[in-house]
Amino acid sequence: MTAKSMMPYVQGNSAIRAMFEEGARMAKEFGAENVYDFSLGNPSVPAPPEVNQAIRDILDEEDSLLIHGYNKSNSGYEDVRATVAEHLNRLHGTAFTAANIIMTVGAASGLNVALKTLLDPGDEVLAFAPYFVEYGNYAKNHGGVLKAVPADPAAGFQPNLEALRELISEKTQAVIINSPNNPTGVVYSEETLQKLAAILEEKSAEIGHPIFIISDEPYRELAYDGVTVPYVTKYYRNTIVGYSWSKSLSLPGERIGYLVIPSEIDDFDNAIVAANIANRVLGYVNAPTLIQRVVARCIECAADIDAYDRNRKALYEGLIDAGYECTKPEGAFYLFVKSPLEDDVEFCALAKKYHILIVPGKSFACPGYVRMAYCVSYDTIVNSLPHFRDLMEEVRGL
Ligand code: PLP
Repeated sequence: MTAKSMMPYVQGNSAIRAMFEEGARMAKEFGAENVYDFSLGNPSVPAPPEVNQAIRDILDEEDSLLIHGYNKSNSGYEDVRATVAEHLNRLHGTAFTAANIIMTVGAASGLNVALKTLLDPGDEVLAFAPYFVEYGNYAKNHGGVLKAVPADPAAGFQPNLEALRELISEKTQAVIINSPNNPTGVVYSEETLQKLAAILEEKSAEIGHPIFIISDEPYRELAYDGVTVPYVTKYYRNTIVGYSWSKSLSLPGERIGYLVIPSEIDDFDNAIVAANIANRVLGYVNAPTLIQRVVARCIECAADIDAYDRNRKALYEGLIDAGYECTKPEGAFYLFVKSPLEDDVEFCALAKKYHILIVPGKSFACPGYVRMAYCVSYDTIVNSLPHFRDLMEEVRGL
């Protein structure tokens, strides 16, 4: 029998499946170019040409048994991890070595490895709403409980630090942060990180054990208007960083990322071994070997971020013109827009009438808003705007 514990996921999945099916049905009925699908965070720009070239070169140049084999260490190739560490040190002035890096199966597995390393059953993890919906499931995978720190829309969705303080208990082991943020596009400033660090230091001392920051960073390179994304380990000692090339190199299907576990964290010697073992016992075994070698060769490359920036401006300005309310995102590729109807689920249902597919804020623990993923073609954005205007007209007339 299917486990009872899986049934809430099965039921939840029917809503996602219904959305996919509806999108496919609409594309068939009206033509794909007449459906404005802003529902998925799947990159719309191709991986840079260096990636495909690196794959060809590696196949020609490197030992087949090695590039397709198990890694000797579950943490990944030593030379790839050293390349990642040196890259981070060049960018951020840090002092990591291969010993601080664990190659992972994307950010998703990195988060699971980090949580398995830190959590015992009943432990609590905090995340600032709105947050990536899978965080709750990942915490549950390891017996943890995710608690949402309420959103602060008036502060432009910057983290609500006073609410965080109130929610910390003796059971709190970690706070997951995500900047640039999915779904708001908000980037946490240096000042925000300093304040967050001060609270966590104070509270860690009070409860008698460290509270870790797990910094989920798949959008680190996607920042616009010259905004810098501060490197979290420089502000808070007990930080584990989870990175992924899913968005920065447009490689989500290749499942490749890494964890940084700095030597300065409490109990480093145990934690680094535990994370290596977690990679194995969770069934990831090691990150895909060929692609580890590819990202090491392409460590200085990036997908065409300018295309997202152009989309961001066009969609943001078009929606504001049409009367929608939204904080201008500084990063990632999402707009988090105030739902013109009180019920965000109802608004997303109404949007379908105008061939627009968007996701309710309820899915990010933040009802009353909707998420629009602008990793689509520029034409999709331009062509969708009259439909967004008509949709707003209908809402105003209700
Ligand atoms: N974290 C956030 C905030 C995301 O938006 C995503 C994917 O969209 C992930 C983690 C998972 O990324 P990956 O594909 O690297 O597992």
